[in-house]
Amino acid sequence: MSRTGAPVSAAAGGNVGAASGGNVSAASGGNVSAAGTAAHAWPGALQVRVAVVGAGIIGCCIAHALQVRGASVTLFDRDEPGSGCSYGNSGAISESSVAPLALPGVLSSIPAMLLDRQGPLYLPLAHLPRAMPWLVRFVASAREARVLAAAQELARLHAGAIVKHEAFARALGVPELILKRGHLHVYPDGAALKKDAASWDLRTRFGFRFEQLDRAGILDLEPGISSRYNVGIFLPDHATILNPLRYVQAIARDFMARGGRIRRQKVSAAAPAEGGGWQLLHTGTAEAFDRVVIAAGAWSDQLLKPLGIRLGLQSQRGYHVQFQGGPQVVTRTVVLVDRKIFVTPMEEGVRVGGTVEIGGLVRPPDPRRAELLARIALDVFPELAGTASSTWMGHRPCTPTSVPFVGPAAGRQGLWIAAGHGHLGMTDALGTAERIAEGMLSGAYRDP
Ligand SMILES: Cc1cc2nc3c(=O)[nH]c(=O)nc-3n(C[C@H](O)[C@H](O)[C@H](O)COP(=O)(O)OP(=O)(O)OC[C@H]3O[C@@H](n4cnc5c(N)ncnc54)[C@H](O)[C@@H]3O)c2cc1C
Repeated sequence: MSRTGAPVSAAAGGNVGAASGGNVSAASGGNVSAAGTAAHAWPGALQVRVAVVGAGIIGCCIAHALQVRGASVTLFDRDEPGSGCSYGNSGAISESSVAPLALPGVLSSIPAMLLDRQGPLYLPLAHLPRAMPWLVRFVASAREARVLAAAQELARLHAGAIVKHEAFARALGVPELILKRGHLHVYPDGAALKKDAASWDLRTRFGFRFEQLDRAGILDLEPGISSRYNVGIFLPDHATILNPLRYVQAIARDFMARGGRIRRQKVSAAAPAEGGGWQLLHTGTAEAFDRVVIAAGAWSDQLLKPLGIRLGLQSQRGYHVQFQGGPQVVTRTVVLVDRKIFVTPMEEGVRVGGTVEIGGLVRPPDPRRAELLARIALDVFPELAGTASSTWMGHRPCTPTSVPFVGPAAGRQGLWIAAGHGHLGMTDALGTAERIAEGMLSGAYRDP
């Protein structure tokens, strides 16, 4: 069930609404840019003590947005900021990616997911029983009306993402991290592009600009792309964060410079305090706050479940191969759509990232998935041969509808949730932060 702007229901059995609605930020009057860099302290915010759990891109942006507006914010993470999924992603700011992952016809892709270990989407058979409830909801959300509703929610959350990230990076003193050269999606041929028609139709419907290219057009933009790819779609307005970890670190640093506190502690539980407010339990102690935001990425369910809230997130594990130095074989984000792989000219060298493995939070990374990425990279860009590289796996926090949960938890006064950003957490971090900060501090969202 997806309810625009509605509180996230505390309900057993997975009956939780995605709350990524448009009306939280209505109270801002639209005058705040880039997670509050242009905002002033909000009347009444100064006394509010907020704990944010999770220092990934989502938690860091929320903590920053709240701190700028005058709240007293403590950000918790068991690790260094940006060590989770936000560490190794492809940095694409994909404002036009409004198509949810479950599109009509998705059911037919599931047998291949179970059988093809080398495929771009893979679900190990052993994980099938655990993934089943999520898969059922995923398939159900592929109905046309639900797809359109999800696309509308995603479009609202994505709105202005590129401009916001540019302004924010400038304000943080790291403008060099934003590359504005567009994104190039490439397909082997017209038949492959046709299979993807639904997602491009949705982008057109939402007014996004793109251009279809033939092989010569692809080579004009990116001369290094192998002859496998003959049809391209160029999105000239899209942008890329050239070092996601350094970006998160810059946000965390600025947050602390503004008086915010970061605690490297694992939070074992959040619980309502007697007489109002919340307690966070960590290292055997309980610390009191007025409000708590759970932004713990793919691990958010672990903290919410004891409170009777089940988001039903599933980790879509993604991998990257980071070539260190070596030739920059592309000059912008290039998407090899048939392989579900992004090739990005990161600061450290080319990063080849992507694919989906629905394999849960516990099992170790499967080196064969990263080897697959490396093989494809060398096949498309043979000049990378001999370049030193490292590999990484991260847990994308995915909802069945592709729409994240952003808002207050129903029936749990003072508890807020920002989780489930799936494949688009970098893109949506600032929109999410504005919604949470303005909703919480303006009172536009009344605590249920
Ligand atoms: C291969 C790959 C490529 C991607 N490419 C893109 C892209 O190009 N563009 C894009 O927009 N998105 C992309 N994404 C998705 C994006 O990376 C995620 O959506 C985003 O990083 C999620 O951010 P988060 O802050 O919710 O989670 P995380 O970054 O995982 O942060 C959650 C944090 O919570 C902490 N935590 C968890 N439990 C606790 C606890 N109990 N106590 C304390 N701390 C806790 C963790 O340590 C972690 O630091 C990609 C993802 C992958 C895997």
